Amino acid sequence: MSELIHHTAAELATALADGSASSVEITQAHLDRIAAVDTDVHAFLHVNAEVSLAAAAASDKRRAAGAALNALDGIPVAIKDVLVTTDMPSTAGSKILEGWVSPYDATPVTKLREAGLVPLGKTNMDEFAMGSSTEHSAYGPTRNPWDLDRIPGGSGGGSAAAVAAFEAPLALGSDTGGSIRQPAHVTGTVGIKPTYGGVSRYGAIALASSLDQIGPVTRNVLDAAMLHDIIAGHDRHDSTSLKHEWPSMAEAVRNANVKGLRIGVVSQLDGEGFQPGVLARFHEAIALLEANGAEIVELSLPSLEHAVAAYYLILPAEASSNLAKFDSVRFGLRVTPEGGGTVEQVMSATREAGFGAEVKRRIILGTYALSAGYYDAYYGSAQKVRTLVQRDFAAGFEKVDVIASPTAPTTAWKLGEQLDDPLEMWRGDLATIPANLAGIPGISLPAGLADEDGLPVGIQFLAPAREDARLYNVGGALEQLLVDKWGHTLLSQAPALKVGAR
Ligand code: GLN
Repeated sequence: MSELIHHTAAELATALADGSASSVEITQAHLDRIAAVDTDVHAFLHVNAEVSLAAAAASDKRRAAGAALNALDGIPVAIKDVLVTTDMPSTAGSKILEGWVSPYDATPVTKLREAGLVPLGKTNMDEFAMGSSTEHSAYGPTRNPWDLDRIPGGSGGGSAAAVAAFEAPLALGSDTGGSIRQPAHVTGTVGIKPTYGGVSRYGAIALASSLDQIGPVTRNVLDAAMLHDIIAGHDRHDSTSLKHEWPSMAEAVRNANVKGLRIGVVSQLDGEGFQPGVLARFHEAIALLEANGAEIVELSLPSLEHAVAAYYLILPAEASSNLAKFDSVRFGLRVTPEGGGTVEQVMSATREAGFGAEVKRRIILGTYALSAGYYDAYYGSAQKVRTLVQRDFAAGFEKVDVIASPTAPTTAWKLGEQLDDPLEMWRGDLATIPANLAGIPGISLPAGLADEDGLPVGIQFLAPAREDARLYNVGGALEQLLVDKWGHTLLSQAPALKVGAR
């Protein structure tokens, strides 16, 4: 099989099963690709070829003995650096954790290893997952494979770019306010935020514990479903992890059908503030679904207008508490002021040197929002808005099966363009944040290229909690309809890296 990197994980699984490729060959092909393009893309913070090839060789041995652990046994996977790993450093994109190696694996990583997948490396991210561009990484930005002068989205720009640049067929991300879905939108890839509690957060370096969720980042919907089936499930190490019998997401994709599916289009996420090319692709996709038997329903969810404001109080509040553990004693960096200092002075010097500007901004905001005298006015009000968002969704899902919107208001912007304007960057999260506030699942998949700049546009679908399979159904169906219409997948058009047809 030539051009191993251009195949989907599902196709590679078939090649492994029929013996036309080995895990070592597939892994080596991706390592070669990383060596060829990652100086430009910078999707990875850490790659260890030796460890990956040893895991691949072990997979080939299992398969030869008829003991493959899973259809994806032997397939390489990239891991966002927010998930801790025993055989690679975990930094969450921060200087404060430079070189730190965890004594245990995050549960989603353990599940990948138990299914025989081959971890390729750790991917770049905004520091502690705060951002929408990956420019807040302490290790330098990742670049968008479609145009190396543009952002790959964030915070999980590394995972999305790795997949979009054919450096890995699969990746894991984390989504607190859109960090899986928005990078998918700007890189022409697929990203899913599962239902809150659907995938264990054990070993995911916490940003905002009531919002964080781990999920798949891939080039097509079936691959995401196969990865989702592996990482989902209850974990006794995470008290918020759901005890639920999940149906097979891969089956949902294979049986995808939108006939009779009621799709809600949210008036608050359609129109003003959205780039014309983003809206055009969104409406075309909706029309295509309608032509294939879906019923389109107009929905108004008024509380969504306040979701960004509520999120940017709740998130900093939780983050300021979660990041208190980086105190110079327990983890990573320690900076001692010249001539020594008290414990407090060491702590302060360490946090001053170890945290970047965006992290400091949010710690200050969060501490303020939680302080006596301001708690009710800020944090308390934000929690009330959160309840209203949950109620709006509950009412909406009485009328429709899934809700649709563009994933984000614009295509990828130029590196540096929004760095001096944090509010502008925050406002861009308006379509992804509501799902996190409500704990419901969301998918973003490619809807085409914007006419004005030729850059990828994503469409987002949301479903009620525990109904993740509905996203794979509608996502799988739309993907097939679009590929039939275009005659090719979107990523086969990525110009910057001349990736060729998959
Ligand atoms: N852009 C959002 C933020 O900066 C998303 C973060 C995330 O999902 N990790 O908070």
